[in-house]
Amino acid sequence: MRDGHDRTIHYLRVSVTDRCNFRCAYCMPPRGVKWLTHDEILTYEELLRLIAVFSREGIRNVRLTGGEPLVRKGFVDFVAAVKRLGTIEDLSLTTNGSLLPKFAPALKAAGLDRVNISLDTVDAAKFAKMTYCGRLEDTLRGVKSALAAGLTPLKLNVVLTAALTAADLAFFIDQVYCYPIAVRFIERMPLGGSASFEAGPDIAAVKRLLEAAGHGRLEPATAKGNGPARYWRLPKSQGTFGFITPISEHFCNACNRLRLTADGRLRPCLLSDLEIDVRTPLRAGASDDELAALFAAAVRAKPDGHSLCRTSGYPGFGRRMSQIGG
Ligand code: SAM
Ligand code: SF4
Repeated sequence: MRDGHDRTIHYLRVSVTDRCNFRCAYCMPPRGVKWLTHDEILTYEELLRLIAVFSREGIRNVRLTGGEPLVRKGFVDFVAAVKRLGTIEDLSLTTNGSLLPKFAPALKAAGLDRVNISLDTVDAAKFAKMTYCGRLEDTLRGVKSALAAGLTPLKLNVVLTAALTAADLAFFIDQVYCYPIAVRFIERMPLGGSASFEAGPDIAAVKRLLEAAGHGRLEPATAKGNGPARYWRLPKSQGTFGFITPISEHFCNACNRLRLTADGRLRPCLLSDLEIDVRTPLRAGASDDELAALFAAAVRAKPDGHSLCRTSGYPGFGRRMSQIGG
């Protein structure tokens, strides 16, 4: 389906929960947030119906996210049910990786195509501090299990924070030489988390540091995916580096996605608080055509660009990343 700015919308990010077993400093306050209640969260049957209707309207790629999707009971069966719809060409997951050692083989068997794993630092103490209650070794084992299970091409998401060190970059360089993975550096967005959290290096500095590590100059590259990253490769590396710059160099003109929050709101733009309630009509007995009309309304409501492109200060956003579905 095309929106009013001539962009084709074929990608849906579906949040299955707002809950998480981590509290990343840029995403959630240490005490967590007020969780949605059981009744507020869409059931798997409701999510499945919406995905089925929206795929009729042109959604081909679905990414399951949260919160942490793997903390929701029954998630593997839900993945299998989405796959059985037969309409989703690329079914992926974003996860903090900590529960992948337990679930990776079952997710692959259920039909999940690939995963993105968030990993901001490989310094165990900084990782523990950054995530508040996460253990680096669990996420690293998660990366290994995803590769072993064939949930590929695998991507590592690295939000740029002050925790990132030369040792982290050396680890990521090692990864792209050993495996055909993409390591993506992401500018931190002003969505929740602690305002006093120290900013990290900018993208230009990371590129300089990667090149200075001695392997040569970054060359333009490509990687499979639906997102806005711009990819580069070090000479002879199997994997790539991606840079996602929603703030310094926004990519709104190529935006191809909508988000569905765990409480059943369609969100046309991550960085705008406009949301369309689909849960109320769904539970009131809306027909497939009526739900499709809400999807079309959300597509029409997509702004041409996010508000950070237009204002010098950060507007206050109502929901945190974990509550929207990153
Ligand atoms: N819990 C899963 C995870 O961490 O991968 C999925 C949900 S998380 C909200 C999705 C992605 O959003 C993660 O890669 C995370 O690093 C990113 N994220 C969260 N808050 C962010 C922020 N303020 N700015 C940029 N990225 C953020
Ligand atoms: Fe949880 Fe992901 Fe947010 Fe970290 S970024 S607190 S793992 S939802």
